[in-house]
Amino acid sequence: MKKIPVEISQINAKERINNFGEVVLGYTEKEAEEEALRCLQCKNPSCISGCPVGIDIKKFIFQITQKDYRGAYFTIRQKNNFPSICGRVCPAEYQCRKSCILTKKGLPFASDEAINIHFLERFIGDYGIKNNLEVSQNKGNRFSVSGIKVAVVGSGPAGLCCAGELAREGIKVVVFEGLHKLGGVLRYGIPAFRLPRDILDFEINYLEKLGVEFVLNCIIGKTKTLEELFKEGFSAVFLGLGAGTPSFLGIPGENLCNIYSANEFLTRLNLMSAYEFPQAHTPINVGRHMLVIGGGNTAMDAARAALRLQRINGLPLDTTIVYRRTEVEMPARRLEIEHARQEGIKFEFLVKPTAFLGDEAGKVKKMVALRCKLGEPDASGRPRPIEIEGSDFQIDADVVIVAIGLKANRILTDVTPDLKIDKYGDVMVDKQTQETSIKNVFAGGDIVGGEGTVIEAMGMAKRAAQAIVERFLKQ
Ligand SMILES: Cc1cc2nc3c(=O)[nH]c(=O)nc-3n(C[C@H](O)[C@H](O)[C@H](O)COP(=O)(O)OP(=O)(O)OC[C@H]3O[C@@H](n4cnc5c(N)ncnc54)[C@H](O)[C@@H]3O)c2cc1C
Ligand code: SF4
Repeated sequence: MKKIPVEISQINAKERINNFGEVVLGYTEKEAEEEALRCLQCKNPSCISGCPVGIDIKKFIFQITQKDYRGAYFTIRQKNNFPSICGRVCPAEYQCRKSCILTKKGLPFASDEAINIHFLERFIGDYGIKNNLEVSQNKGNRFSVSGIKVAVVGSGPAGLCCAGELAREGIKVVVFEGLHKLGGVLRYGIPAFRLPRDILDFEINYLEKLGVEFVLNCIIGKTKTLEELFKEGFSAVFLGLGAGTPSFLGIPGENLCNIYSANEFLTRLNLMSAYEFPQAHTPINVGRHMLVIGGGNTAMDAARAALRLQRINGLPLDTTIVYRRTEVEMPARRLEIEHARQEGIKFEFLVKPTAFLGDEAGKVKKMVALRCKLGEPDASGRPRPIEIEGSDFQIDADVVIVAIGLKANRILTDVTPDLKIDKYGDVMVDKQTQETSIKNVFAGGDIVGGEGTVIEAMGMAKRAAQAIVERFLKQ
């Protein structure tokens, strides 16, 4: 008899939109075991090639069936430093699940039949946290012997992962973070209803226990330069700067009041606790008709956060996502789209904004847009949205959030001319070692190759850490 995938429990939509608490509850032991037992334990497990860091998925799932949760934790940790985080945010339907033999072939993302690898990973990651399982240093603290000290710039998943890998090798690591809190997008971008902050704090505390030092409010490129870091005695530097500069539509009226970039909107909310204003210092404007432009995870997060703010402020629930292609082409995780829809978010597909109109006070009032149809694939491989002439229409909008992508922040690269960048401003690296055009300066994450995923950022950070270890500890 064909076994049905085990559904994950979640808070129902009506209840969850009242607050920023976590939506997905995770598997119980019984559910995890049942789901693990669906795995065919394939001779050639195709799922592993779908994981950007190559977790031995088959093995950890088998260990779950044997109730060897501790073993499963260490199997995952061999490749992935943050299973509880990735189990919550990885777009598994485009990665491991899509490669699972049980998925139906030819789909743009995994079918429901694929093993819920990400939920199993989360179950094990959370088991590790609950039971305080920690991965010890590999070879004791060799810093006292080697004197090797590495600076990590940025504390997003790339920076944290690189720091952890190096610290476990006994290398002294100092992480320099420009903001006043650690975690990068995991802290200021992804809302707590998807990634509770105690999970992130656990991982950061663990790094502190390994001896990693954190320096906050320190922007490399402004507070100090790369050159100064080397003068301070660092042997190597890892750049995990992320992609923190928002893209805009470049259409008339975009400078009207109450049009936010998703980055600003989410940072006000997640980093500055704007939902607690006036108890918190930072305000956020909430409207009766909130529009979010874009189709990625950032758009889903911004829309779901906006809807919660409407509810908290006693406003009618009216938040709409506007996307110029259809749902199939949306790059957001399928689960987030489903959650957004369950929560009452509306979708306007095949719509391209052309202008914003404001009132006499300079506040946005309406968005003007054109309907589109899909054409031939463009450079991204997705069908190009083609505007339909004469289809223009207007939508009410008193708050607009633009979530159409992020690019490299150039603070450091602008003052470091020897650091080679490409036409997008991304740092260029050797793909094997992640080393940049400056010797002993490595880079990974979104600053290399643009907006990616948490696990991809970690994959690059691991490669860089390995190259640093090879260069300095294995000579
Ligand atoms: C809203 C949102 C939702 C997302 N959802 C998902 C998801 O569900 N799943 C997924 O896999 N991916 C998701 N992503 C993408 C993912 O978060 C990124 O790919 C990942 O965070 C990149 O990691 P990073 O370490 O390279 O950069 P970041 O996380 O951006 O961290 C970079 C850090 O470097 C700091 N910094 C930058 N310049 C300097 C400097 N000069 N000096 C000191 N510090 C500096 C920044 O302040 C920041 O803390 C999402 C992204 C966003 C914005
Ligand atoms: S491909 Fe799917 S069924 Fe096969 S081992 Fe991997 S998770 Fe299990």
